[in-house]
Amino acid sequence: MEKLKRYTVKDAEETYLVPQWAAGFFRVGEDGQLEVTPEGNGGPSASLYEIVSDLRDEGRPLPVLLRFPQILAARVVELNEAFRRAIQKYEYKAEYRGLYPVKVNQRRIVVETIAKAGRPYAHGLEAGSKAELALILAQDLHPEAIIACNGFKDDDFIRLALMGKKLGKNVIITLEKFAELGRVMRIAKELGVEPSIGIRYKLKAKGSGQWEESGGESAKFGLTTPEIIRAVDLLAKAGMLGTIAMLHSHVGSQVTDIRRIKQAVREIAQTYVQLRKLGAPVRYLNLGGGLAVDYDGSKTAFYASANYTLSEYAEDLVYVTKEVCDGHGEPHPILVTESGRAITAYHSVLVLEVVDTIRPPGEEKLEEPPDAHPVVADMFDLARSISAKNYREVYHDAFSNKDTVQNLYDLGLISLRDRALAESLFYQIARKTLKLALELDYPADELEDLQKMLADKLVCNFSLFQSLPDSWAIKQMFPIVPLNRLDERPTREATLVDITCDSDGKFDRFIDLHDVRNTLPVHELRPGERYYLGVFLTGAYQDVLGNSHNLFGRIGEAHVTIDEDGYDIERFVVGEKARRVIEKMGYEDDELAEAVEKLVRSSKKLTPAEKGAFMEQYARELVGYTYLED
Ligand SMILES: *Cc1c(COP(=O)(O)O)cnc(C)c1O
Repeated sequence: MEKLKRYTVKDAEETYLVPQWAAGFFRVGEDGQLEVTPEGNGGPSASLYEIVSDLRDEGRPLPVLLRFPQILAARVVELNEAFRRAIQKYEYKAEYRGLYPVKVNQRRIVVETIAKAGRPYAHGLEAGSKAELALILAQDLHPEAIIACNGFKDDDFIRLALMGKKLGKNVIITLEKFAELGRVMRIAKELGVEPSIGIRYKLKAKGSGQWEESGGESAKFGLTTPEIIRAVDLLAKAGMLGTIAMLHSHVGSQVTDIRRIKQAVREIAQTYVQLRKLGAPVRYLNLGGGLAVDYDGSKTAFYASANYTLSEYAEDLVYVTKEVCDGHGEPHPILVTESGRAITAYHSVLVLEVVDTIRPPGEEKLEEPPDAHPVVADMFDLARSISAKNYREVYHDAFSNKDTVQNLYDLGLISLRDRALAESLFYQIARKTLKLALELDYPADELEDLQKMLADKLVCNFSLFQSLPDSWAIKQMFPIVPLNRLDERPTREATLVDITCDSDGKFDRFIDLHDVRNTLPVHELRPGERYYLGVFLTGAYQDVLGNSHNLFGRIGEAHVTIDEDGYDIERFVVGEKARRVIEKMGYEDDELAEAVEKLVRSSKKLTPAEKGAFMEQYARELVGYTYLED
């Protein structure tokens, strides 16, 4: 047999597509450990494996989330610099103003890091609710940074926004529906403040990918063209036309196809021109979100990818807007985008520990008993005879034998021991078939079924519903890579399962350059050695959507910075204790403890020492981590 070539870290980069999706923030190090480079490839680096091992040594339990604020800052800079370059390239006559929509991730470390990194660029924040506006108003932003208020609004929301304006902040209230205009005019008069109004325009153009329906005529938000005309007329009549500061549109998130974006920009830029012609002094043209993250690294219009780069996105927005405005002799507006996903996705890594492997049968050595059932004896013959010449035939025979055995078993005509043998033999034959099929030509779909059937299941200590809700809810894919041994060939194929009692708590779709992979290449686990998997690009949206299914609570998180001297854990936020998660369901932990204590005290079966030990165990559980801890 041909000897396999040595597997190198270059091969690992190919297996796990690291350079394709990492945007320069992660790479495989020479020692086979995955590294983070939060300032890009030239900057300082640290091994994720080392960070996690050190955390474990300190007694921090897994799963853990690693946050890299430097990555957030780097993304803010990259976005603003991309627009600066595009503006220069096309001699665009106005600036770019980014906005971060906090709904994408409202965590304090995230919002504060973005606000700070964005200050030199007057990067602003967008609120979609009163609570979001409340936290935004307290942020230290550049005085010219926009604070946009999107989402449906009641009087209080508008009042808070207008008070922010009165305080001197650049607060713009986006009208999501026509009826909000009357409220804004009334409350502005009450408070004696001139509002800055944004109009959300209902695009005809639709995005592409999962959020296609966020745009288009059936979209939830935005004014139709007749409503825009009514709003303009109403404001003109009140002598308030000058309050229209911004035109806004949002084509949907994760728009995978750049053509859809260009189409939307053309439409909204035309609307800007038309509004100017009606006398509305619109200054800001807000193109919303949609800047996609290339989760699978394929650079295609596939829903987990994007067929364009950040620079191309910025250039197309600038170019199309300029072209439309120049065509009508209107001034170039200040360009605004609300990129959330593209800013936050990269900054956090979920680290899982594999705690067990569930392996389909067929790898154990089998001996044929002299009194084997004839079907079982036939299976032994098949297993012995399989070869490159007959493997498809043999596999199909084995498959039909398996059915026969099941039928015989249901009729009580075959023993459990014989059935077990038949099952093991079937898997043994399937494994040989897969091995031969991989070397030879074989129909791809049958091969896929075999791979799925024969994959190991790695039991990972986490809850998908808490830590990767998007994977469950919208089938979002994330790159997953072992944190070490990347200089060793991964010899097993696996799917991942979590520790919830929910059969949906699994991960069986993995990134690939072509479509989707059903299994992830992993290494044979070594006894006594920990094996960690990193789940990447998890920082957008789902970071704040996790739920407590099975009462698995929020996991611990480390905020990590890297410099030339290595890494530093700036802060460790401990995970939710069982008590907290139980309380959320309406229980009082004191009452629970009391009830259990009463039960224990009245027991005639336990010794006093046992009673003490039980109550101590119960109390410890209430303040413990909700995940497996040994
Ligand atoms: C959610 C949202 C965004 C963020 O979109 P991304 O695709 O994450 O950048 C921007 N604008 C509006 C109005 C939104 O609702």
